[in-house]
Amino acid sequence: MNIPANHPRRNSLLIREKLVEGFKRKLVVEEGLIAHGRGECFDYLLGEITQPFAVKAIEAAVAALLLAKYPVISVNGNTAALAPREIVELAKNVNAKIEVNLFYRTREREEAIAEWLKEHGATEVLGVGEDASATIPELFSERRRVSPRGILVADVVLVPLEDGDRTEALRRMGKTVIAIDLNPLSRTARAASITIVDNLVRALPLMIEKAKKLKDKSPSELEQIIKQYDNNVVLQEAVYHLFNRLKTLYESKLAIEFCR
Ligand code: ATP
Repeated sequence: MNIPANHPRRNSLLIREKLVEGFKRKLVVEEGLIAHGRGECFDYLLGEITQPFAVKAIEAAVAALLLAKYPVISVNGNTAALAPREIVELAKNVNAKIEVNLFYRTREREEAIAEWLKEHGATEVLGVGEDASATIPELFSERRRVSPRGILVADVVLVPLEDGDRTEALRRMGKTVIAIDLNPLSRTARAASITIVDNLVRALPLMIEKAKKLKDKSPSELEQIIKQYDNNVVLQEAVYHLFNRLKTLYESKLAIEFCR
């Protein structure tokens, strides 16, 4: 689709195009398109730029990934469609494994996503076929199936686009969970150890940049970053930002004109 350079929703429409392309490649399911819509709505309200509370969370997230003994990046269809190269590059920079994890799991989709990630530079993708042979306790969706070489043994798991049940289950297993979620009110955002309230297409490149900068820091410097981080404060700031943007709009003449 030819989107004019000055179209106010240009970036948003380009992201949509990528998702539709992912749908055609059988990486993304119909439900994934709808989940993206929920994200778009929150992105609209956030202002479609990375906010300071997300920058703080990104720094803590990267520090946690670099300090981890066994970090894993969990990838679903939407994430694979939107940022395959970034997933691979981040994994390389923080020395993490990549694992496919799907709510709507089929062998065909697992393989299509793994293949797509490999086309973008991944050397190993866990969680495909028999490799997803372990289960997360107390979880009933297909997302309970994980790799015994990946999420099952991970101490830190990055979950861009997660569901709340699994985030809670991973936390109960004692893992540090890093979520990227545009909705600061979701169960995922609230249950995660570190929540990056941002669009994953913006957050992942910033995480790569940050990983390159923090890579050479000592463990005690990285621990200091985590010690100073408070996820509740970050979530509060995200909600306040949404509230404030709506309030400003409500109080402006523009909003009054709109409401007539
Ligand atoms: P939960 O179970 O955590 O309450 P949910 O049921 O609201 O979550 P899902 O439908 O499982 O959410 O997944 C959609 C979530 O992913 C939404 O919270 C949405 O804001 C978020 N989301 C969608 N697209 C993106 C994106 N590109 N970047 C970051 N977050 C996104």
